[in-house]
Amino acid sequence: MMIEHEDPSRDRLKQHFAKRVIHQARQVLEVWQRLQQEEWNATSLAELVEANLGLLRYAERFEQDLHVSLARSISHCLEAVETNRGRLTSQLIMELNQLMQRLSRTGLRHGDQYEQTYLPPLRKPVYLALQDQDRAQRLAQQLEFFGLHAQSLDTASAFRTAMGERHPAAILMEVDFSGPDQGLILAAEAQEGLEHKLPLLFFSHDDVDTPTRLAAVRAGGQEFFTGTLDASSLIERIEILTNVVQYDPYKVLIIDDSRAQAIHTERVLNSASIITRTLTEPIQAMAELADFQPDLIILDMYMPDCNGTELAKVIRHNDRYVSVPIIYLSAEDDLDKQLDAMSEGGDDFLTKPIKPRHLISTVRNRAARARNLKARMVRDSLTGLFNHTHILQLLEDARFRARRDEQPLTFAMLDIDHFKRVNDTYGHPMGDRVIKSLALFLKQRLRKTDHIGRYGGEEFAVVLPDTDAVTAAKVLDEIRQRFSEIHYPAQPHDLTCTFSCGIAEMSGGMDINTLSKQADEALYVAKRGGRNRVEIYLDEQA
Ligand code: GH3
Ligand code: MG
Ligand code: MG
Repeated sequence: MMIEHEDPSRDRLKQHFAKRVIHQARQVLEVWQRLQQEEWNATSLAELVEANLGLLRYAERFEQDLHVSLARSISHCLEAVETNRGRLTSQLIMELNQLMQRLSRTGLRHGDQYEQTYLPPLRKPVYLALQDQDRAQRLAQQLEFFGLHAQSLDTASAFRTAMGERHPAAILMEVDFSGPDQGLILAAEAQEGLEHKLPLLFFSHDDVDTPTRLAAVRAGGQEFFTGTLDASSLIERIEILTNVVQYDPYKVLIIDDSRAQAIHTERVLNSASIITRTLTEPIQAMAELADFQPDLIILDMYMPDCNGTELAKVIRHNDRYVSVPIIYLSAEDDLDKQLDAMSEGGDDFLTKPIKPRHLISTVRNRAARARNLKARMVRDSLTGLFNHTHILQLLEDARFRARRDEQPLTFAMLDIDHFKRVNDTYGHPMGDRVIKSLALFLKQRLRKTDHIGRYGGEEFAVVLPDTDAVTAAKVLDEIRQRFSEIHYPAQPHDLTCTFSCGIAEMSGGMDINTLSKQADEALYVAKRGGRNRVEIYLDEQA
């Protein structure tokens, strides 16, 4: 196929075909996501291989280089699985997960800042069926800001017509849309007969009773929002439900002095896409916990140097690991002893030999609940970002890794300019909206590996691993620029906001107090220099 390079129609053609590639990429992601919830076997492996081959074929034909390279890498990993007699290993799960994460970001409008994304987003709209049209309009507008196209529908028949014309990327339905509980019925009707159900989210302004929630689940609802609808949590859910965002696999630390038993446990868990690490020397447990950050620990009851219950106590003494579930694995079937062990900080007790399915489901359930709980504990409720304490913990972890891997690490602090005036002029709720939207903006524009926290009132902190100060400054300055362009509709005139940012890069064995102090000083320089700017900390002695 010979087409002139400057031909503008070539670009359009490329865009058109890019959509097909994205569609196929989603196919791959869907199979992968499904495998995360099942166990791997020959059939599922074959399915993933085939979907990926399809992606490779399309990507090559339509010259989507990034997808070609991702599909080839995935293909290599899958060949390695085949060579390993169809068995996954932790290493392969991690590699595949990383590739799938990258693949999932190729369809996003605000893709990875550091990796050129040249594909258009899926422009399928999200249908909003809300009673309050003002609310719907405002929400649609916010979603637009962040790259999601939303279409608000005001009546049941408008909704039906829209559904007849085109299926959306997702539906947000108010329970009482077009009449009490009518939204439930309307949504159920829309899903009926569809081979692939659409992502469906329900909303109710007031809290609802259990029967209503049950009805929502039966109507195919995957999420239920109540109270104020916040664009950022909505977007987060939609991205997960449409497979744009991928969950990280669970991580399990196995502490067992018997290598044979540990290998068996690893195999079982790996087959369920769970990443494992084994420790046969319980004494090293604390260092391993800090480095690996498991979602869950499987602990052998009887080990020569120190037994499981003692180790559980030691782990529980550290604040950070108070809520990591501990599952004892042992041949002990004396119920009294089991109960004693549980009171010493264990969460569950599994008796050997254990059925693989039983082990997998216990681990999955416990890990899922622990993640959920942790997410609530470490997050700020207004923005959903990490809170002050947790962002500093993440900075500490990142510092540990940066030193070990000899990689750069940068810490940034942001502060909204003249925020008091926003509150004074437009009111506190408007101030809150600005804070929330900056939070969302940062989440969308930074990498998944960056950590974002709400440091205090209108202050934010960002941890950027593997990034030097100059690169971080470039990225944050771009964000600063774009953020200042947002117009918040308000009276008597629209509101715009800016922020100042201070950046510091870790050097030598610098501790996190010094690092955050330096970022704070750079922020002060930015404020003094006139605000709405990004400054890197400069050592005056140098
Ligand atoms: P500067 O450019 O120097 O940062 O000026 P500023 O007005 O932003 O700084 P200052 O620290 O004096 O004021 C911050 C204001 O932010 C004061 C406080 O009322 C407001 N604020 C803090 N937390 C919140 C919040 O959660 N919501 C709202 N709406 N306002 C908040
Ligand atoms: Mg401040
Ligand atoms: Mg401020």
